[in-house]
Amino acid sequence: MRQILGLITCCLFVFNTLSSQAPKNSSPADIFHSIEKLNFLGSALYIAAHPDDENTRLISFLSNNNKARTGYLSLTRGDGGQNLIGPELRELLGVLRTQELLAARRIDGGEQFFTRANDFGYSKQPSETLEIWNKEAILGDVVKAIRKFKPDVIINRFDHRTPGSTHGHHTSSAILSFEAFDLANDANAYPNQLKTTSTWQPKRLFFNTSWWFYGSEENFEKADKSQMLNMDVGVYYPMLGMSNNEIASIASSQHLCQGFGRLSSRGSENEYIELLKGDLPEDKNNIFDGIDTSWSRIKGGKAIGEILYGVQENFNFKNPTTHLPTLLKAYQLLQKTTDDHWKELKIEELTNIITSISGLYLETFTETPYANPGETADVQIQALSRSTVNVKIKSVFINSQDIAINDILLKNNELFKEKVILKIPTNTEFTSPYWLMEKGTLGTYTVNNSDLIGKPETPRAFITTLNLDFNGVIIPVTRAVVYKYAKPEKGEISQPFELIPEATASFADKVLIFADASSKRIPVIIKAHHDSISGTIELKYGPEWQVDKVSQPFFIAKKGDEKTIYFNLSPPSLENESTISPIIKLNGNEITKELVTIDYDHVPTQTVLLPSEAKVVRLNIQKAGDNIGYIMGAGDEVPTSLEQIGYNVQLIDPTTITTESLAKYDAVVLGIRAYNVVDELKFKQRFILDYAKNGGTVIVQYNTASRWGSQFENIAPYELEISRDRVTNENSDVEIIAKENSLVNFPNKINQDDFKGWVQERGLYFPNKWSSEFTPILSMHDKDEEITKGSLLIAPYGKGNYIYTGLSFFRELPVGVPGAYKLFSNMLSVGKDKVEVKENIKG
Ligand SMILES: [Zn+2]
Repeated sequence: MRQILGLITCCLFVFNTLSSQAPKNSSPADIFHSIEKLNFLGSALYIAAHPDDENTRLISFLSNNNKARTGYLSLTRGDGGQNLIGPELRELLGVLRTQELLAARRIDGGEQFFTRANDFGYSKQPSETLEIWNKEAILGDVVKAIRKFKPDVIINRFDHRTPGSTHGHHTSSAILSFEAFDLANDANAYPNQLKTTSTWQPKRLFFNTSWWFYGSEENFEKADKSQMLNMDVGVYYPMLGMSNNEIASIASSQHLCQGFGRLSSRGSENEYIELLKGDLPEDKNNIFDGIDTSWSRIKGGKAIGEILYGVQENFNFKNPTTHLPTLLKAYQLLQKTTDDHWKELKIEELTNIITSISGLYLETFTETPYANPGETADVQIQALSRSTVNVKIKSVFINSQDIAINDILLKNNELFKEKVILKIPTNTEFTSPYWLMEKGTLGTYTVNNSDLIGKPETPRAFITTLNLDFNGVIIPVTRAVVYKYAKPEKGEISQPFELIPEATASFADKVLIFADASSKRIPVIIKAHHDSISGTIELKYGPEWQVDKVSQPFFIAKKGDEKTIYFNLSPPSLENESTISPIIKLNGNEITKELVTIDYDHVPTQTVLLPSEAKVVRLNIQKAGDNIGYIMGAGDEVPTSLEQIGYNVQLIDPTTITTESLAKYDAVVLGIRAYNVVDELKFKQRFILDYAKNGGTVIVQYNTASRWGSQFENIAPYELEISRDRVTNENSDVEIIAKENSLVNFPNKINQDDFKGWVQERGLYFPNKWSSEFTPILSMHDKDEEITKGSLLIAPYGKGNYIYTGLSFFRELPVGVPGAYKLFSNMLSVGKDKVEVKENIKG
């Protein structure tokens, strides 16, 4: 992957990530910076758990100040978090965050790696994390990352000695790194890996500490720092025109889906790292002190160093091309070294430098974003030399296909371009993130091709190799085949060229709730990725369900067009959960995947093929009341879910709230974190409480205490204190402690079965103190923790009711958890037990 993107060097100034697939242009200062990096043979690996855990200041400092090869191993891809910029969640969020990490590394100069660990959600203890992750497998992935990257030093973001003080994933990343530091050099550990790599002993292991880990700046000031190194990461790089912390801020601002866009910081700043293993360097400001990072560390390196240090010392900024003959000599010597690890890395760096100083522009692109296996695609090959250097194209290959361009002399500033036809073999794999090809477990992705484990993304399907002749020295230069086009409002854009099926099908809704026995008309959207396709579409469904037509024919004339086909699906009379999936039958092939495109300005467009399916749930649910008013908070899908079970839900504009305007609702629900994010509620809170007093039901879902405005010291009509209590194990036992309360009896009788099948967690930010008017309904706790009773609280207020709940309905309803629907329906129905109940069971 590194070869393809050619990102190791000279990309500090290319912040326009729209062209992250486009060729890089290098100024003499960039080239000089690359030569300094070429002449440093040392490496550092930073290890943590999630996208955004990484300290970009330190990564940038090691890469740009020390000039070291620097990597970030993020154990997970951050699938479990929230998305502030779009709809991607779970595995799709992991794809987006992977690309945000790659965008950050393009800026701070690092490289990116992963393990197969899945970010399954919050975990309090590393013991729980390592059980869910499959410790053996993930430890093996960390060992493999170390064996392949061969770092001299490793830095852990987190402390392996303090379980429970932070996310269990965090502590686990440090625990695994601590163990892998020794295992990487043990030939008996993970011996299969040694077929493709070799053992390696890093020299030093550090923990990237800071005052935060000591509770306060004063504590940290007093702490024993004899085992610590300290670096000023605020240094300014005159050659780059930027300071280290400015680069780091721009890099971490790539984490846009986590809301990390931030101001740049400037000026002197200290970073501390504490030695955990290995010898303490004498120079307490230099992590590489005492480690040979010169060309002498490799066999035959001394002669190469003599040449390349000379280039660095006498670099010609006015005309870097003059260094070409010397660099070619170094290239030839480098070819002869026997140290394969450094040889591969340094040849790639040197190749980039040679093409840069020759003013070479090389690009291969299509004019179509995608093609199907078995087709052909037009590929434009372009090459241009913008110097007096004699460069000849000897031959060109796309993968192993010789495309018959031979002995072309590139004359100064005369563009060579030729359109060639690329034959795409029928067995070419579709483009999709490799870790999502097979169904994984909750904690670990399944990756059948072990060569791919650790890689940030799936290698591009088509790589062009141009064999260039520089005065008799033949240097292969590689470029990925990309799709290049112009958008009138954005300019030139390069994005990955993708291989996708001829057609894909998807459901508009991923979860369908059948609250009674009536059938539903299910739309299936077929999208054509090829002209003139005709086939049939079938619906696969569970034995208890029924469909009017099993198979239907379709025809779509134009690539890119869609067609919607409907199936009438009837549910069984009893409660049931099942999945339905569309199968396209086309030219003897079955296509069962749907195509999802992730498209943002700050990362290259991603196409993801996922199993196409929807969950169907037949519920025996009863409800009272019809009209629900919903005040949206930070964003959730609860309103759509309530509509699925037959409620009429209206979104309320907070500015229009009055006591009268709310009177028409059977219940008023506040979306997650509404009091944290909707300022207007400061002024409207009294109307909301008055509505309850007059006989209404107010349901407040979780808010965090930390961003509590002083106006909300009493969001409830009585004393209620929000804590950080949460129950993160979605299977933890739940006890119903208020057995007679209407919340667990009307109109649906709630029992233990209703707490089965929950996802990710039980709930969060439960209150831990409340006045006597409140009745706690449920009791629950995580393993080895005290019980919490604040997950669901109800208090009568005037003629109505006030309910506060930290239960994660916002996660459970969208994935169709039956018990969560029944409990929510009961909350909405409170106080209506004396009124007539709507029977929803007609079948
Ligand atoms: Zn984290």
